[in-house]
Amino acid sequence: MKKEPPPALTNLFFPKKRTPVFFRQNWVEVDKSDFHFNLKKIKEHLAKDTKIMTVIKANAYGHGGVALAKEAQKAGISWIAVSSLEEGITFREAGIKTNILVLGGLYPFENLQVAIVHNLTPTISTMAALSALEDMAVRHNKIANFHLAVDTGMGRIGSLSESVYPMLQKIAQTPELNMTGMYTHFTVADTDPVFTQMQLESFTKIVKYARQTLGLKFIAHSANSAALFRNKRTHLDMVRPGISLFGLSPFKHAERFIKLKPVLTWKTKISFLKRVPSGFCVSYGRTFVTTKESVIATIPVGYADGYNRLLSNKGDVLVRGKRCPIAGRITMDMTMIDVTGVKGVALGDEVVLIGAQGKEQIKVDELAKIQDTINYEVTCAISPRVPRIVV
Ligand SMILES: *Cc1c(COP(=O)(O)O)cnc(C)c1O
Repeated sequence: MKKEPPPALTNLFFPKKRTPVFFRQNWVEVDKSDFHFNLKKIKEHLAKDTKIMTVIKANAYGHGGVALAKEAQKAGISWIAVSSLEEGITFREAGIKTNILVLGGLYPFENLQVAIVHNLTPTISTMAALSALEDMAVRHNKIANFHLAVDTGMGRIGSLSESVYPMLQKIAQTPELNMTGMYTHFTVADTDPVFTQMQLESFTKIVKYARQTLGLKFIAHSANSAALFRNKRTHLDMVRPGISLFGLSPFKHAERFIKLKPVLTWKTKISFLKRVPSGFCVSYGRTFVTTKESVIATIPVGYADGYNRLLSNKGDVLVRGKRCPIAGRITMDMTMIDVTGVKGVALGDEVVLIGAQGKEQIKVDELAKIQDTINYEVTCAISPRVPRIVV
């Protein structure tokens, strides 16, 4: 009798489907329809001709940069902001044609050439960088596009208003230097409307000088998510939302915030399950002790995945729509959870670390509070080894 040959082993590891394969059951789902929903909500907040720069730096705050850059491009967004040249180049290699602003200051200045070659728009905030950019442009026989950053109170990169005037004069006199945008960044847009207004006024004074006195034409932008939702006067020509694109709130009291949809769900599966007696200790340090006969499950996620160790004995996960507490310390690659109360719990059950399951939900803000940090850090910390899947 003739036997079917077994499938080639390589097909097992690299099947000819486009969905990524992973063996360790620990992944992030990114819902593109929720991303588009949030983008639409943001647009509803803006005047008709206000542009949007989607800030998808740091791998889209951990959500998966390339996938969301593609969605932003599909939505007809005119600008994308990234942290670094590396991120910008990754987007270009993935076929993103949208304008890309690199928010980080570029040093050493030779890096400016990389921006020119890959058609990335650098941020310039000093006369030295401006001169270096001019040299590069002349050397490559190109016009160098850039955005000028003005520091009106953030105290990070950006030219102080005293130093910005000579830079603007140089820009006006140098045909190789094409300032396509000028921006500032707010430091307390979420908490202090008075200081934010003062920053806005310092900035608009400079914008006015550049336009009216020097005749420069450029996009002026200032609003992050908090400013975008708090103060329409900050919108100017373009807004720069980041966190709100992902359905997360820039405000401490999220309930005051417009209703957006969280884009990210972090999932894993029960990979081990056992019934243990009362008085049984779980994980390093024996910090968790059962008080009755219990069912303890192990999930393949740990602090090396960005599941913060501060959640040990404090955080919850969802199994079969029920909240289950983390039992003992989170370890590098594995975490134990107490599933005693979960009817019918079984090996392979899906576990939600962040997101909704049934009627229950674990919010990013809930984890942020336990970790004494902000929601931004929680999603950014999800490590690159966790596959991101667009659904
Ligand atoms: C990160 C960042 C933003 C986006 O801020 P959110 O609070 O996430 O909306 C906007 N502008 C600059 C310069 C940034 O660095």
